[in-house]
Amino acid sequence: MSAKLLEGAPIADAIKEDVKAAVAGMCCPPKLVAIIAGENKGAQMYAKFQAQSCEEVGIQYELCELPADSDQAAIEGKIGELNDDASVTGIILLMPVPAGVDSRAAQRRISPVKDVDGVHPANLGGVVQGSTTLAPCTAQAVFALAQAAGVPLFDPKDPMGAAGKGAEVCVVGHSEIVGKPSALLLLDRFCTTTVCHIGTKDLKAHTTAADLLVVAVGKAGLVKGEHVKPGAVVIDVGINRIKDAEGKTKTVGDVVFDEAVEIASQITPVPGGVGTVTTAMLLKNVIDAARLQGK
Ligand code: NAP
Repeated sequence: MSAKLLEGAPIADAIKEDVKAAVAGMCCPPKLVAIIAGENKGAQMYAKFQAQSCEEVGIQYELCELPADSDQAAIEGKIGELNDDASVTGIILLMPVPAGVDSRAAQRRISPVKDVDGVHPANLGGVVQGSTTLAPCTAQAVFALAQAAGVPLFDPKDPMGAAGKGAEVCVVGHSEIVGKPSALLLLDRFCTTTVCHIGTKDLKAHTTAADLLVVAVGKAGLVKGEHVKPGAVVIDVGINRIKDAEGKTKTVGDVVFDEAVEIASQITPVPGGVGTVTTAMLLKNVIDAARLQGK
């Protein structure tokens, strides 16, 4: 059996259409400001990508470049300025921050209604209550992909609906902005959700029990075909740059795709799966932020 590809593009396109329509209905376009401190190739590429995505849907994008030796006060001061600037809808602090800067403390300075990355404790707390408003973008992407795959997710607005309860879900990775919020959003829909991490004694015992397997670790090849339950849906969040047999660099996920594709019923490609939807969710969060600010 070869699994169906669970591609991100159709979901991302639908979100972008909604965002475009929302922007068109606003008196002035929302503005997203990303703060970058110092020169980091990865962060610069990410910013370029964000700028392109914003342009596609009519969101203004500004890159606020701070010196590489910026300290905590400088970064938090800039965040404070942007919080007070009514023309700014969303604020992102790009990683990495300079050595010695506490990124969590800086992120806590972002006004929760401008926190489009969903990293402020107030928005992470909302996830505990099942809210996707300004929830972390990747967790929302995982949820949207699970929905698109037809994983039974109980709908509180349609309690008698056919979706049902109790899908077995395994999330591998427990980071604050990917693993944990993904697990919580799925748990809120009555999935029986297991979270695996570095301390998990028998990973395979958990992953092979899952109808939906979400892998968000950052280790190429961690999840092999033998870890996948036959017919499961596999959502691979991982992004890893590796060298192939010819020495060419390529991007792969955490799952050994060629093995898992033979066992799963649906599987996200890397690239072209979660990442595509995550970017669209950022745009959606900018609209949510604008609404929370009464714009
Ligand atoms: P992270 O903060 O480094 O978290 C990785 C998690 O994996 C941690 O909870 C870690 O546990 C756990 N882990 C490490 N080794 C493990 C193992 N052998 N078995 C089980 N769990 C293990 O990374 P992240 O931000 O969550 O990102 C995870 C991956 O997703 C990365 O490859 C990242 O690039 C990618 N990503 C993709 C998108 C997208 O849009 N596609 C978005 C964000 C991130 P400990 O903390 O206990 O070590």
